Amino acid sequence: MIPVIALVGRPNVGKSTLFNQLTRSRDALVANLSGLTRDRKYGEARLGSRPFVVIDTGGISGDESGIEAQMAGQSLLAIEESDAVLFLVDAREGLNAADEALARHLRQRNKAFHVVVNKIDGLNEEVAVGDFYALGVERLFAIAASHGRGVRQMVDELLAGFPEPEPEAAAVDRSDSVRVAIVGRPNVGKSTLVNRLLGEERVVVYDQPGTTRDSIYIDYERDQQRYTLIDTAGVRRRKNVRETVEKFSIVKTLKAIDDAHVVVLVMDAHEGIVDQDMHLLGHCVEAGRGLVLAVNKWDGIEPHQRDWIKTELGRRLVFAAYADTHFISALHGTGVGHLYRSINAAHSSATRKLNTNQLTRILEGAVLEHPPPMVNGRRIKLRYAHAGGQNPPLIVIHGNQVGKVSNSYQRYLEKVYRRELELVGTPVRIEFRAGE
Ligand code: GDP
Ligand code: GDP
Repeated sequence: MIPVIALVGRPNVGKSTLFNQLTRSRDALVANLSGLTRDRKYGEARLGSRPFVVIDTGGISGDESGIEAQMAGQSLLAIEESDAVLFLVDAREGLNAADEALARHLRQRNKAFHVVVNKIDGLNEEVAVGDFYALGVERLFAIAASHGRGVRQMVDELLAGFPEPEPEAAAVDRSDSVRVAIVGRPNVGKSTLVNRLLGEERVVVYDQPGTTRDSIYIDYERDQQRYTLIDTAGVRRRKNVRETVEKFSIVKTLKAIDDAHVVVLVMDAHEGIVDQDMHLLGHCVEAGRGLVLAVNKWDGIEPHQRDWIKTELGRRLVFAAYADTHFISALHGTGVGHLYRSINAAHSSATRKLNTNQLTRILEGAVLEHPPPMVNGRRIKLRYAHAGGQNPPLIVIHGNQVGKVSNSYQRYLEKVYRRELELVGTPVRIEFRAGE
């Protein structure tokens, strides 16, 4: 288990500064995990010997009038799914009423927290922290987030309180396996879909002892293809379907997405697309994963509403237009088998080996059809292309003045590559490099 640590506190106490300190050496993952919601930021941190997840909960003002709503809204989920809460306060401002209100509310929720007195640079530490013992905690950390002072020590001490991660159960060879994550917000039908997918006659499930991962990894074979289903709903951990549903966890969902080749994002046709769907979708696109959209509970939709819903979906999901959309009923099994066609297509597109000659030829054709615009009287020259990575496919284009290539021209090239290479179900990334 990777510990999850939430940062809470009033605005301006230094949460995002600390967040950046903790995550900056891990830029790749942070880029993937951040931007999920407006108010909260998730990052994978590795300071010292162990990784952990850090959540910046955004500000809770501590105004009595708004505090309940704020806690209940954006920050609560983050606080609830965390293993430790770091409650930041500002040494320069001293203890104030808003801090006390916040501490009270955390306590009411039975959430243990550590007080972190930030901005002690240039202050007498003993004097600076003295006030804050009034918040009633035994252990106070004194740090200067912007200087990195005391941060490492604090993290070491915190992490020492968590059990060492257990060694993974005997490693399963998943090199030939298509890893498929089933994700979605609560109640959209993930568990029903997982059961349906595994209950199919043509599926042979290889039962593995439960691993220590947060999501459950289920290996099976269908039509001679191996799959690993990444089950964020935790179906197989429950003894029966009636047992209480696992709590939805964003950290778990993000990890599942990062770990997958293809994500099946499940939505609920009855509720339409809500903000949380959009956040998850945005993250799938940003993470560059293969993507299949499953609009579930289609059984309960009146025929005359269906066209309207489809139009609405098309309109809101344009930025993920590369993904196939399926209208399914996990409950009755309708359309579920067809998901495989899209999953397989997305997987093979996302992981295909691209050939340098072919990439350059396509580039030449695209440039001929539509030359890049002139910049300051000189034409941008795009010379050749090669493959830069898979899942998502990355195409690296070399040329002159490539910094001046407009977004719309880049989108045009993406479109041409997608068409010529017949890439479906996956984003296509293009990167420009200057010179030879
Ligand atoms: P947030 O709103 O809680 O995320 O706070 P920020 O991280 O945005 O920090 C608010 C302000 O405090 C910024 O101007 C930071 O530069 C400053 N700040 C953060 N940490 C420190 C610190 O350790 N020492 C000092 N002197 N300033 C800090
Ligand atoms: P999860 O929280 O995403 O795992 O959602 P569940 O699989 O637990 O489903 C939530 C509720 O929606 C349950 O009552 C299911 O029976 C119901 N449900 C799931 N799939 C369908 C479907 O295709 N049609 C209908 N009508 N209900 C469904």
